[in-house]
Amino acid sequence: MTFRGGIDKPENLARTGGGGGGRIAVGGGVGTLLLVGLFLLMGGDPSQLGGLIGSDTQQQPQQQSAPGELEHCKTSDDANRYADCRVEFTGISLNQVWNAQLPRQADIPYTKPNLVVFNAQTSTGCGVASSATGPFYCPADHTAYFDVSFFDSLERYGGQNAPFAQEYIVAHEFGHHIQSLEGTLGLSDYNDPGPDSMAVKIELQADCYAGIWGHFADKGEDAFLEPITQSQVEQAIDAARAVGDDNIQQRAGRDVNPESFTHGTSKQRQEAFLQGYRTGSMASCDYLDRNAYS
Ligand SMILES: [Zn+2]
Repeated sequence: MTFRGGIDKPENLARTGGGGGGRIAVGGGVGTLLLVGLFLLMGGDPSQLGGLIGSDTQQQPQQQSAPGELEHCKTSDDANRYADCRVEFTGISLNQVWNAQLPRQADIPYTKPNLVVFNAQTSTGCGVASSATGPFYCPADHTAYFDVSFFDSLERYGGQNAPFAQEYIVAHEFGHHIQSLEGTLGLSDYNDPGPDSMAVKIELQADCYAGIWGHFADKGEDAFLEPITQSQVEQAIDAARAVGDDNIQQRAGRDVNPESFTHGTSKQRQEAFLQGYRTGSMASCDYLDRNAYS
């Protein structure tokens, strides 16, 4: 259990910008099953995605996330029980924390991202996503996408599929939304990987921003989380390690090749999360050397 019991879903916090609670307007060009343009993944090698998703250009029936799909998520007790409700409530908590911290630390007003929980496949502003995509953030439609079946793969990569591990993943994707508001997200380029690449710096900063959320999420009278325990912090650390480039390459039976890194090593990701968690400070996550934080 991570959420304080008995909190009703606050409608004004749950509803996101653009209206329509998660519904995405899909433009033309239906049929492509590849993500296009800039999008930010949870981990792994984006060049593997084509093979995972397939390049089938046949138009297929799509399970579109629709408003109301999360209607069974009414209270924080549901968030403690169901993974999809946990994603939604974590998003609400993230909105609360960043609404306070982004103006205070970066002098930027916060606007909420959209949040979509989908099954199997969904159309996005970045193309069509499937379960194989994993959680990601699409800057084109300011939306974080989650297929909760991804959480099961944490165990395959040596992490625990535990509540706070799932919440760290949601917080990481919201970290990309913060970068989008800061105007730095476009610096990431998965086509130009490597240990010192902008892609890695942006991903590690998103881990650090996830830690900042953890720092504040259990504080204050209106906090959504129960006091975070050491074992919950360990769950997030395990998850951060699981999605490290070196760990994913090793477990896929490949040689560890730093030149192909896009997200950073297990050790770097763990340290970045802890950095944000301990300090709560965006300045401590300034891997881009912007010196833009108070
Ligand atoms: Zn990411």
